Amino acid sequence: DSITIHTSTNQYQVHIGQKIRHKVPVFLSKHYPSILIITDSVVADLYLEDVKRSFSSEQQIFTAIVPAGEASKNKDCFFDLITKCIDSSLDRHSLIIALGGGVVGDLAGFVAASYMRGIDYVQIPTTLLAHDSSVGGKVAINHPQGKNLIGSFYPPQAVVYDVETLYTLPEQEIRSGYAEIIKHGLISDEVYFEDIIQNGSINKLSNSILMDHLLKGIAVKAEIVEKDEKESGQRQYLNLGHTLGHAIEAELGYGAITHGEAVAIGLLFAMKVSETVYSEDFPYQRLKNWMKKNNYPLTVTGLDEQALIGRMKKDKKSKNQKVQMVLLKSIGKPCVHEVDDRLLMELLHKFLRELV
Ligand code: NAD
Ligand code: ZN
Repeated sequence: DSITIHTSTNQYQVHIGQKIRHKVPVFLSKHYPSILIITDSVVADLYLEDVKRSFSSEQQIFTAIVPAGEASKNKDCFFDLITKCIDSSLDRHSLIIALGGGVVGDLAGFVAASYMRGIDYVQIPTTLLAHDSSVGGKVAINHPQGKNLIGSFYPPQAVVYDVETLYTLPEQEIRSGYAEIIKHGLISDEVYFEDIIQNGSINKLSNSILMDHLLKGIAVKAEIVEKDEKESGQRQYLNLGHTLGHAIEAELGYGAITHGEAVAIGLLFAMKVSETVYSEDFPYQRLKNWMKKNNYPLTVTGLDEQALIGRMKKDKKSKNQKVQMVLLKSIGKPCVHEVDDRLLMELLHKFLRELV
C-alpha cells in the first residue's frame, strides 16, 4: 500500500508493507552514491543490517548510532551527526536515512535539513507512534527549556514503513502509538473511532486490524498536513489531547510515562471539556474502558492542577495567557476553543479525581 503526500514544493509517498525494509532502493526515485543511516542503539541491533544490505555494493553506506531515547534529540548529538556527515564527505547528492522511532526521525531529519542547507532524507519508521511523526515533515531537536524548540519543516523523499518491525516493540510503546491512532479517529470519523475501540487491541498487533487502523491514521494525518503544511489552521487539530498531555509529560518528567500515554489522558480530558462546552454526549466511558483494558496508566498521582494549568498556558497555541484547547463539537468535528481559566480549573479538578 502507499499514500501520496503533496507538499507545496514536491510530493512524497508513504509506503506501507511487510518486510519492505529489505528493499529500500525500490522506493527511491534517485540513485544515491553515498548514504548515511542514522539509527538508535536498540533499533541498530534489530534492523540496521537489513537496511544496509538492501543497497548495492557500489553505494557507500555510513552508519551513525545514537543512544535510544528522547535525550538524543539534543544539540550535541545533532552537532556530532553533522560532523559525521562532513567526515563521510556527504554532499548534495547524498542521502540520509532515519531508521527508528520519532526520536531518530526528528533528529536525523533535522540533520538532513541543516547539513549544506538541506540534503535528501528518507524515513524508515519502526514504532507505531512514528506513523504520526514520520508524516508531515516536522523535524526538530529539543532545547533544555522545551521540546522541539529548534527545528524546521522539511519533508522527506519517501517514508518506508515496514510494519513487521512493529512486532518487536515493547508494550508500552505500542500503547503510546495507539493513543495517536485514537486521536486520528476522533478528529476524523466516528466509524473509524468506533472500530478502534471495538476491535483495536495493543496485544493483537499481528493482524490486519492494526494495518487498517494504521493506514487510516496515516491518511488522516496526510490529509490535514496537505491542507495546512505550516500549522496555521487545521493542523492544530492534530493537537487534540496534547495540551494536557504535554503538561502531564513535563510535570512528571519526560520518560516517566510515554508521550502517547500522556496524550491518552489528554484525549479523555478533551472529551470531558467538549461535553461541557458543547452539551454533547461523547463515549467517554467506553474510551476510558478501552484504555483501562489496554493498561493505560490513567491513575497517575502527584499531579498538581495549578502547575498543569500553568504549563497548559505555555502551550504554543495559547493566546494572551488563555488556554486554547482542541475540542470536539462531535466526533470527526474538531475545533479550537479558548477555555476560561475558572472553567478549566473546575473541570480539571473533577477530572483528575474521577480518573483515580
Ligand atoms: P522513540 O523513537 O524513542 O522510540 C521508542 C523506543 O522504542 C526507543 O527506545 C526505541 O529504541 C525503541 N524502538 C524503536 N523501534 C523499535 C522496534 N521496532 N522494536 C523495538 N524497539 C524499538 O519514540 P517514539 O515514540 O517513536 O517517538 C517519540 C518522538 O517523536 C518524540 O521526540 C516526539 O517529539 C516525536 N514526534 C514528532 C512528531 C513530528 O511530527 N515530527 C510527531 C509526534 C512525535
Ligand atoms: Zn503526539
